Amino acid sequence: MAENKRRDFLKKAGAVTAAAAVATTIGAPSVVKAEKTYQWKMVTTWPPHFPVLGEGADKLAEMITRMSGGRLQVQVYGGGELVPALQSFDAVSQGIVEMGHGAAYYWAGKSPAAQFFAAVPFGMNAQGMNAWIYTGGGMQLWEEVYAPFNLKPMPAGNTGVQMGGWFNREIKTIEDFKGLKMRIPGLGGKVLAKAGGTAVLSAGGEIYTNLERGVIDATEWVGPYNDYKMGFYKVAKYYYYPGWHEPGTVLETFVNKKAFEALPKDLQEIVTTAAMASNLWMLCESETKNNFYLDKMVKEEGVQLKMFPPDVIRKLRAYSTEVLDEIAAKDPLSKKVYESFRKFQKQHQAWGEISESAYAGLNKV
Ligand code: CA
Repeated sequence: MAENKRRDFLKKAGAVTAAAAVATTIGAPSVVKAEKTYQWKMVTTWPPHFPVLGEGADKLAEMITRMSGGRLQVQVYGGGELVPALQSFDAVSQGIVEMGHGAAYYWAGKSPAAQFFAAVPFGMNAQGMNAWIYTGGGMQLWEEVYAPFNLKPMPAGNTGVQMGGWFNREIKTIEDFKGLKMRIPGLGGKVLAKAGGTAVLSAGGEIYTNLERGVIDATEWVGPYNDYKMGFYKVAKYYYYPGWHEPGTVLETFVNKKAFEALPKDLQEIVTTAAMASNLWMLCESETKNNFYLDKMVKEEGVQLKMFPPDVIRKLRAYSTEVLDEIAAKDPLSKKVYESFRKFQKQHQAWGEISESAYAGLNKV
């Protein structure tokens, strides 16, 4: 009996020593603790589950929740569900919620430099925006712009090149913009004003009725898929391209910096990686849906597609440069961002001419 007891003791001691050795070797705790879970709220500037844009926010939240095995659970709130759409920035900045989803041009009033991270008239397309932000120095500048607000920005979607908009009269010369009342937000609206038009602000839900009743003469929105859902083809005759004012609109997620820094490193990496994945998803979803719905509107609804004449484009481009120069002249941070943007765009365009553009032209040879 005594011998048996001694053997048991030695066996147990051995097991403990072996376990301790393993723990020491791999540095793992010998006792498994219940892992801390985080519950985050994400507010958005979109109506709940809004096609593509709101869906992108949903997707991002789902990815973070799934990738983290539920350790970081993100609950999405559409605009107005928790805070009004355009108070998303403040809500995350103040730490009322941890995360937001929107587009940086909505925050021009907070910092004019923010606009460069959403859409710049005659700026870069999706490929250029992604390259500038992820690997061309744009991200550091964006972080600098949002840092005073205790926010960490990340790209989380892209619409691709938008459409020029819906008109009830043809645009033949730049004069045709004189007196034109158009729903066109942001920098594009400022360019329209230089051309003698009036940029009208209409909430998403009012645009259709305003166009139908002639409160506005024209509107831009997003691209064929979103525009089809809005039904604009029923109240406007001409669908103009391309969207010179939004050539590759970046959607964003912004995270409360303190909340982000309080996460373990692996969860931080999950948030960053999920944002990149949702960025790609939205661009792909836009490409897929846009080509399908453009075809449908032209073939089934008799939509008349028109390209802006070259001279109109040239004038709009000159006005755009004036608008951007004016912003840069008034605000040092905008100047810094614009200089980086402009330099990158120049190189990107030169390379694009002998790569993407040259390739696109091959199918017409
Ligand atoms: Ca738009």
